[in-house]
Amino acid sequence: KLENATLKAELGRATWKFLHTMVARFPDKPTESDRKTLDSFFHLFGRLYPCGDCARHFREMLKKYPPQTSSRNAAAGWLCATHNMVNKRLGKEQFDCTKIGDFYDCGCGDDKDKGKG
Ligand code: FAD
Repeated sequence: KLENATLKAELGRATWKFLHTMVARFPDKPTESDRKTLDSFFHLFGRLYPCGDCARHFREMLKKYPPQTSSRNAAAGWLCATHNMVNKRLGKEQFDCTKIGDFYDCGCGDDKDKGKG
């Protein structure tokens, strides 16, 4: 099948939104188990992301810049920087990671699992 840049970009936008929203709910003070879970998630994600070239680039970034899991801020900052590396490679603008604050809101309010991120 031919490559379809529109679909690839749509998948990218949806995925980034999910990933940034997920780390915005990662605990401020994660347990060892929380930290391992997030680290595993990104490694599994790098194996399974359906755009093969994107996944390969992502795995190369992971090797150089392993996921930061010590806190919500560290994780959000790491993902923002990672997304910026992809932006750079694709000739897109850099996002100001100091402004990420409340940009990604899951809309789930204070649900029971908030302590779990
Ligand atoms: P996107 O980059 O999708 O960003 C969506 C929105 O997120 C932006 O409009 C902005 O509001 C916000 N944003 C932008 N930068 C940041 C940041 N640093 N931190 C937080 N929020 C930000 N496409 C390819 O063609 N080749 C690839 O190799 C490739 N690799 C990818 C790897 C991964 C892991 C993912 C998830 C996607 C990849 N994509 C790749 C898709 C690509 O990154 C874009 O998603 C797609 O091109 C659509 O771009 P966009 O300009 O709409 O904004």
